Amino acid sequence: MYKKVKQYAINNGFTVEEKNGLIYGRMNGFFFSIYQDPATMAKHTVHLWVKEDKITAIPSIPDFLNQCTSKHQYLQSASYSGTKVTAEFQGIGFKWQKEYTPCLDAFLQEFTSFCRSNGLVSCCESCSSGLGLSLYQIGGVEHMLCSSCYSNTADSLQRKAAEASKKGNGNMVGGIVGALLGSVLGVIVWVLIYQLGYISGIAGLVMIICSLKGYEMLGGHLSKAGVIISCIISIIMVLVAEQVCVAIEIFNVYKDYYEISFFDAFRSVPSFLEEPDLKAAVIGDIIMGYILMAVGAWGTIRQAYKSTSGGTKARMVASVTSASPADDN
Ligand SMILES: [Zn+2]
Repeated sequence: MYKKVKQYAINNGFTVEEKNGLIYGRMNGFFFSIYQDPATMAKHTVHLWVKEDKITAIPSIPDFLNQCTSKHQYLQSASYSGTKVTAEFQGIGFKWQKEYTPCLDAFLQEFTSFCRSNGLVSCCESCSSGLGLSLYQIGGVEHMLCSSCYSNTADSLQRKAAEASKKGNGNMVGGIVGALLGSVLGVIVWVLIYQLGYISGIAGLVMIICSLKGYEMLGGHLSKAGVIISCIISIIMVLVAEQVCVAIEIFNVYKDYYEISFFDAFRSVPSFLEEPDLKAAVIGDIIMGYILMAVGAWGTIRQAYKSTSGGTKARMVASVTSASPADDN
């Protein structure tokens, strides 16, 4: 969990479930949850469950959320289903760490005071009842439900979550294209570093990260299959990159003496590799590339596996309101 958000939660007396990536608590009397994306620390989903009671909210809840989205830098989107608010935060740019948590806090403060001044009330996400509400985590998503809705919907929500995680492999063709494009970026960086005379293996790190990101961007979701595909593509593209580097060298040396094209040089690389010195240098580059690739990929791969496994459980997290209005203060 991102440490600044965790610290913010602790300072404000919210409950932190680090293992489940979950924070919850109350602000201005309204219950909310913050879910930490398992794959990146700069992404959080905030939920609140409210509905209008007796008076009409001014501005309307969706209008107010729109105002929030345009005002708060890291609030990427906010929507309202009629009972549930979903606000997606993502830190973008180099300096996001500085203002990210204050931005999250400002949104929560602002939205809960809006709820209070418009007399909104907490409600079940499914039937909008206000009694016997609890927070549940079903398939890695937070839901606030009354006990009867939970027993009715848990099964179908769980089934939906199971389907969604299967669909995770979803757009594999898109993912492969994304991984290839990402790895081409890695090849370019590799060649540039080689040209500058540094150890081009450094680019192995760039290669694997771009490839995994590329898969995620065009494939929609980084599944286990996606991780394996991205790794295989990167492993191959390291060899391509190194061959391009050697070919450029050969081409630059021989172009003045012979009429050769870059592709002739590229094809001739294997025969040049019989030269022991060059061979040792090339193998050194490649090994360094693979080591750095493993370093760069480790965190992402671990998290991708974490987020796709065991994501369909349903559990009650906390009780939010009591079953009868009399003892609910
Ligand atoms: Zn209900």
